[in-house]
Parts: sequence; structure tokens; C-alpha cells
Amino acid sequence: MEAEAELTKEQKQRKFDVRYLEMARIWAKNSYCKRKQVGALIVKDRQIISDGYNGTPAGFENVCEDENNITKQYVLHAEANAITKVAKTNNSSENGTLYVTTSPCIECSKLIIQAGIKKVVFAELYSRHEGLELLERAGVEVVHLPDEEARKHNRDQ
Ligand SMILES: [Zn+2]
Repeated sequence: MEAEAELTKEQKQRKFDVRYLEMARIWAKNSYCKRKQVGALIVKDRQIISDGYNGTPAGFENVCEDENNITKQYVLHAEANAITKVAKTNNSSENGTLYVTTSPCIECSKLIIQAGIKKVVFAELYSRHEGLELLERAGVEVVHLPDEEARKHNRDQ
């Protein structure tokens, strides 16, 4: 407990960021998509207010890929599932932080901005950067926390 007190505010935040991202990584395993499994969490005031993983809309078959192994157009990304889940509750994602295992695409980035999310922490950099560029343009804080760094952090603790 003493060691905890010695951490600066930034170190403490980093520690929480690493842990939430770890949880998002575990959550990604719920996805039945074969090509890629992505997990997301929305945290507000140190509370997880929503979660999501990539998959088809509620009521659809649990298959993400078509016969050619192409991801179906109606598959929702983890971020979109987490954001729209909040829309079904009385909660608000305003000023929340989104933890996601893969950097958001441009479509999800639009949703993130409009949902009032102020910070995005991600692990794996997606090949296209348009999403991140859009987030930064909108003043959303973007933190890249690669798995490598998360592992190092765990060792140090
Ligand atoms: Zn997306």
C-alpha cells in the first residue's frame, strides 16, 4: 500500500490504463469473429459503464465472415457496440475514456467524437491512421499503450 502512495498521479493513471486495456483484451475473446477479435470498454469516473466486442447486431447469426471469409458489412465494431450500449441506458459516455484493443477506424472515431468521449487508449495500431488523425483533430486525447509496454509495466509492479 505504501508503494501505491508513492506513485505520481500520472503513474497511477497509467497503471489504471494498463489494467483497463488488459480487461478489454480479455473482453475481446467474447467475439465470435474469426478474422479479428476486438474488445472495448468505456470507463467514466473509474467505473466501467459499457463494454463491447466486434460482432453482428443483436438477433443476427453469430457469424462475422461470409463464405469468402470477408467480414460482413453489418458487423459492428467493438467501439460502436460499446457506445450504442450506453445509448440504451440512462448513463452517458460524455467525458468518458474508451479502452480498445485495436486503434479505432474512421467510422468509429466519428462515433467516439459525437459520444463526447475525451480519451482513447488502445493497444494495437491499425494499419490506417485516419481514425486517430480525426480523433486528434477533435481534441480527443489518444494514448497508444502497446502490449509490450503493458507487459513491462506488469513486470515492474
Ligand atoms: Zn471501427
